Amino acid sequence: TPLVVAVDGPSGSGKSSVSRQVAAQLDLAYLDTGAMYRAATWRCVQRGVDLMDTALVADTVRSMVLQLDLNPRFPSFVVDGVDVGVAIRAPEISAVVSQVATNLEVRADLGERQRRVIAVERTPDGFSGGRGIVVEGRDITTVIAPDADVRLLLTASEEARLARRAREVHGTDDAAALEATREHVVDRDARDSTVVEFRTAADGVVTVDSSGLDLEQTVQAVLALVED
Ligand code: C5P
Repeated sequence: TPLVVAVDGPSGSGKSSVSRQVAAQLDLAYLDTGAMYRAATWRCVQRGVDLMDTALVADTVRSMVLQLDLNPRFPSFVVDGVDVGVAIRAPEISAVVSQVATNLEVRADLGERQRRVIAVERTPDGFSGGRGIVVEGRDITTVIAPDADVRLLLTASEEARLARRAREVHGTDDAAALEATREHVVDRDARDSTVVEFRTAADGVVTVDSSGLDLEQTVQAVLALVED
């Protein structure tokens, strides 16, 4: 029977790396919903859309042709024929993605696309051949897949999250790198949490705190919960 694993958490919690590895080990499909919001933002920015114009932003996202590769080993996002895997990680996108993600029409549209992906992965026609999917984001355990078989909130202390992101983006976690990262981690989470709650676990959601764990240990902790 298909397995659906839902993982939420703040930025820097390690949820993307952990979810990918868990999906790869269990031979499941993998969907990074944050990348969908980034792809939507990339399209708006590329077209010069005023992000304050909520109706135009919603239209621009609705008309986006988004092709996903759900392979956890080579996840890819193609927007209108352009591979945006690298472009959507640019600081200019991180800086404004919350503006697009707090647009409720955009959330309805992308949410529907996410639900469709999950539905297909429950059938033999999906990438996983009906084995299931790991889906990660901010509202997966609560809004998109509250009926998932496994629902996890991956957390880490602010210190640990800042250090992780600083090493990812700047290659070091010295004081300057930490300060440069703060804006993208702490401020973005504050903006995002005005529309989605991912700081405390909802009823039935299991919290995994990765502050003192490395990637491999966190993956093992999650696998243990899935196999339970
Ligand atoms: O996970 P990542 O940091 O790549 O997510 C980028 C942005 O996408 C978040 O800052 C948030 O604004 C948005 N997002 C969301 N709901 C999700 C996943 C991501 O609003 N389920």
